[in-house]
Amino acid sequence: MELRFTPEEIAFREELRRFFRTEIPAEIRRKVSEGRHLGKEDILTSQRILNARGLAVPNWPVEWGGQDWTPVQRYLYLEEMQLSAVPPPLSFNTSMVGPVIATFGSEAQKKRFLPATANLDIWWCQGFSEPGAGSDLAGLKTSARREGDAYIVNGQKTWTTLGQYADWIFCLVRTDPTAKKQKGISFLLIDMNTPGITRRPIQTIDGGVEVNEIFFDEVRVPAENLVGEENKGWDYAKFLLSNERYGIARIGQTKERIERVKRLAKQTPAGEGMLWDDPDFRRRLAQTEIELKALEITQMRAISAQRHRASDQPDPSSSILKLKGSELQQAATGLLMGVAGPLAMPKSDGHEHSNEPPIGPDWGVDAVAPLYFNYRKVSIYGGSNEIQRQIIAKAFLGL
Ligand SMILES: Cc1cc2nc3c(=O)[nH]c(=O)nc-3n(C[C@H](O)[C@H](O)[C@H](O)COP(=O)(O)OP(=O)(O)OC[C@H]3O[C@@H](n4cnc5c(N)ncnc54)[C@H](O)[C@@H]3O)c2cc1C
Repeated sequence: MELRFTPEEIAFREELRRFFRTEIPAEIRRKVSEGRHLGKEDILTSQRILNARGLAVPNWPVEWGGQDWTPVQRYLYLEEMQLSAVPPPLSFNTSMVGPVIATFGSEAQKKRFLPATANLDIWWCQGFSEPGAGSDLAGLKTSARREGDAYIVNGQKTWTTLGQYADWIFCLVRTDPTAKKQKGISFLLIDMNTPGITRRPIQTIDGGVEVNEIFFDEVRVPAENLVGEENKGWDYAKFLLSNERYGIARIGQTKERIERVKRLAKQTPAGEGMLWDDPDFRRRLAQTEIELKALEITQMRAISAQRHRASDQPDPSSSILKLKGSELQQAATGLLMGVAGPLAMPKSDGHEHSNEPPIGPDWGVDAVAPLYFNYRKVSIYGGSNEIQRQIIAKAFLGL
């Protein structure tokens, strides 16, 4: 494998960097860099700028707005976007349901959904997990019974990220309760404004509300919203999950975060000098950077191997990227928390209208602790890390 970039690749990278850093509003990129919550408008604005330049869905087929890029160009795109702190295009649209519709959907579904999905005119959320079906996803119970030209959906989904903004939800539903677990599942597209759907927010440990419960009570869904074949939904879900895990490695983002850790450590007093001079801190930092470099090379190998893989087949190497990538994202937020130390204490005593003055700088109090707590999720969502280890053991080690 050639690890040096060609002059053309370097020019490609520089053009992307210039575009990301001049066209995406600095205020949005600042929020990403500091790990603050993005509002719906921030995500819409950023994705539409990217889409207008053909940069929202490069992984899609060219006829639907994708780019005929080499694996190296795809790698550079991801890396530069993350290093520039550009909000990634909404993954539910661009790396989950979009590729599923483009690969397995009907022509009518492609025309109806793909352009609007790329431009975020439709905001999708993911309805896979249920209270009793997370790691054991194939145990899902939400049912869809066929009645004439419609499915009637009943059940509950949970942990639905950003479901509060969603126009549509892509769901795994049980269409054949008599078949063996995986065999009776279908992939259904459901308009969130259909009567019978209720959303309920869940507050997370960082104080944010980014996940929801979604309830379905006799929800009527036109049969034309079934993707692919009835009872083949598990195959499409495996394809989707492997794409989801690719995006979760976020190597560029971790690099950007480590650079921030370094900048802040140089300004943070510790003992006689600065935290930056502390050998134990430097050792932890170096260890994280070494592991990140190893993961970066692993990601390049995986991207390069994709050339030889059929486009509708799931790629188990995405589990390695998800597993290690999420561990390193947590390590980086842990380092940031270490720099902030007691300055990461919340501004107030938990009462919204406290008059207590903040005890540290804004970067510490407002953003670091919520970010640290928020990132506990990355080893759980997209399939927990224990489950990724099992996939790796099976696919690569033959266990
Ligand atoms: C912040 C966040 C956002 C999410 N967003 C979405 C979303 O938008 N849409 C969606 O559908 N889902 C979403 N999820 C759900 C996520 O995919 C599940 O939480 C995840 O698959 C784990 O399932 P569970 O929560 O039911 O835990 P469980 O499956 O009950 O697992 C509990 C623990 O047991 C371990 N475990 C379970 N089975 C095994 C096993 N066989 N071997 C070894 N260890 C095992 C797990 O690793 C975990 O540590 C989100 C989750 C989080 C935390």
